[in-house]
Amino acid sequence: MKEDFYDILGINKGASDAEIKKAYRKKAIEYHPDKNPGDKTAEEKFKKAAEAYEILSDPDKKARYDQYGHQAFEGGGFGGGGMNMDDIFSQFGDIFGGGGFGGFGGFGGGGRQRRVKGSNLRIRVKLTLEEIANGVEKKIKVKRKIQAPGTTYKTCGTCNGSGQVTRITNTILGRMQTATTCSTCGGAGQTIDHRPAEADGQGLKVIDETVSIQIPAGVEDGMQLKVSGKGNEAPGNGVAGDLLVAIEEQDHPELQREGNNLHYDLYISFSEAALGASREIDTVSGKVRIKIEEGVQSGKILRLRGKGIPSLNGYGKGDLLVHVNVWTPKTLNKEQREFFEKMSKDDHFRPNPESGDKSFFEKVKDMFS
Ligand SMILES: [Zn+2]
Repeated sequence: MKEDFYDILGINKGASDAEIKKAYRKKAIEYHPDKNPGDKTAEEKFKKAAEAYEILSDPDKKARYDQYGHQAFEGGGFGGGGMNMDDIFSQFGDIFGGGGFGGFGGFGGGGRQRRVKGSNLRIRVKLTLEEIANGVEKKIKVKRKIQAPGTTYKTCGTCNGSGQVTRITNTILGRMQTATTCSTCGGAGQTIDHRPAEADGQGLKVIDETVSIQIPAGVEDGMQLKVSGKGNEAPGNGVAGDLLVAIEEQDHPELQREGNNLHYDLYISFSEAALGASREIDTVSGKVRIKIEEGVQSGKILRLRGKGIPSLNGYGKGDLLVHVNVWTPKTLNKEQREFFEKMSKDDHFRPNPESGDKSFFEKVKDMFS
């Protein structure tokens, strides 16, 4: 009877990711072979803890284990022999952070086996400006290969599990030894022992899976996000590839993005320019009412601070720049024509820019300084 993975790590079924990691870290340090030289019991416990962590740290495997118990992995490469030491040490970067476990490296003296990685998957995600401004969780359906339940793997007989074969050839310079990837197992060190009818030649099958992707605020068109381990699974002890998510930004009907700033073209009438107005405009966080002072000039730029896009690194936000355009009517009726003819004789209507009324180019210069 196989021991329960939660019992091995000494945690409850409801343990969080952080608790699982912490529990494993403790066991890994306690039973580490460098601390317990020659102690077979400690080594066994060390391996068991690693195996438990391998399953419980992976949301998919954990879900399978929670539902089916050890049967979920019976003969699937995790059931019988458990993990080898190289697999365990390759996990450590994840647990102890880059090189934090350096002192223990090189266990077993070289010959570390390369783990085969599943292929990456690529998808595109279309986002609205609002989603980019606020961050969003997207649930995306992907077709990915997983190890078909019931597939069993065995150590490759050609390379004895190393994934490499050494060839000795006689050349005019003497005997030469070259190591090449084993052609029987493709470098995986394992071959299929048994596979169900639905599995392909590697023991994999394609499933539809809904992957939840957390998209941070501030991303840009053309950026690529990586969801680790959500690509195709690899056969045997291999690690799953990644899911690469390309960001596509949809055009907004009213707002134009420029870096983290947004631009909005506001059109007001002659009368509104003369009398002042209050107008509602679109922003990425809903509608906002702005006040236009009487006597505003066409070309004026109103800056709404912090109403732009947050920067991806989490520090600061861009602004929303509202460009005021005074709309000139293209046709006039008789009465209107008479009114404007009368006004054009009035000195008060003659352009008379003061020093405070900057030209358009001066304003643009100010905006970027
Ligand atoms: Zn092989």
